[in-house]
Amino acid sequence: MNPKARLTLLGLFLLLTFINCTKEPPENIVEEEIPEIITEEQMLLEDLVAAFEKETDISIFYETGLSSLQSKVEHHHAISEEYYYKTVNSYPILLHRVGQIIDYVNAFPKDFIQDLDLDAIILVQSNIPKWNGRANRAEGIKSIAINKLITLNDDLVLAHEIFHMFDPFASIYIPSSEFEMNWKSLNPPNFVYGSGCSSGGDIIDYSEGFFNKYAQCNPIEDRAVHFAFYYAKRNKVIGIINEDTYIDGKINFLKDLLSEYEFNFSY
Ligand SMILES: [Zn+2]
Repeated sequence: MNPKARLTLLGLFLLLTFINCTKEPPENIVEEEIPEIITEEQMLLEDLVAAFEKETDISIFYETGLSSLQSKVEHHHAISEEYYYKTVNSYPILLHRVGQIIDYVNAFPKDFIQDLDLDAIILVQSNIPKWNGRANRAEGIKSIAINKLITLNDDLVLAHEIFHMFDPFASIYIPSSEFEMNWKSLNPPNFVYGSGCSSGGDIIDYSEGFFNKYAQCNPIEDRAVHFAFYYAKRNKVIGIINEDTYIDGKINFLKDLLSEYEFNFSY
């Protein structure tokens, strides 16, 4: 290669760079090992999750990991590595978020959580999945996923997904069963499920008989919405319950159902 041509083309600066690059590298370069810095928050988070798991047998996943349970749960919810919350300083925020979820779980009656028999909660923050929460029972593994980017109300989402675990028809829907007929009889006359499935589950978008539009999607979502609002946002909905006899009937139905699982609504 002609150095003059290179000079013409790339200019003085690049020539200097080129010259610099041809220098003999200094001998004995030892790659410095960068120690993994474990922050105080990271240690606190690990301890918190370990203590919670020991007490409840529920694992909490918030970053990539190697356990086979985590791989299965990720697979069941179609969660990829990039869905996890990851910034330079993730741990203080994760510590706060995971701590909140633990508090919400611990606020349920102990016997109820035991009956729930949940294996894992997985916490992500991503705008790729459009759900705010999901319950899954594939392969006999019970797991709940929460997407922090879509929801501000972990307590509402957690209660909603927990209810799905107790719903007798969450996996197999039998429209003509006595259970479903009894439930549907609580709706306003001539109401037909099917609308509202694409609307958000967080916001109260009340209409007679329904806390929000999403509840009008199907009976399974209807029950989960009513349980979650009653449990997690009671102050917000108590006025509606007192005025709306349809909703009041639904809440009483759910009270009876969950009393079979040692959950007393009137605590
Ligand atoms: Zn749901």
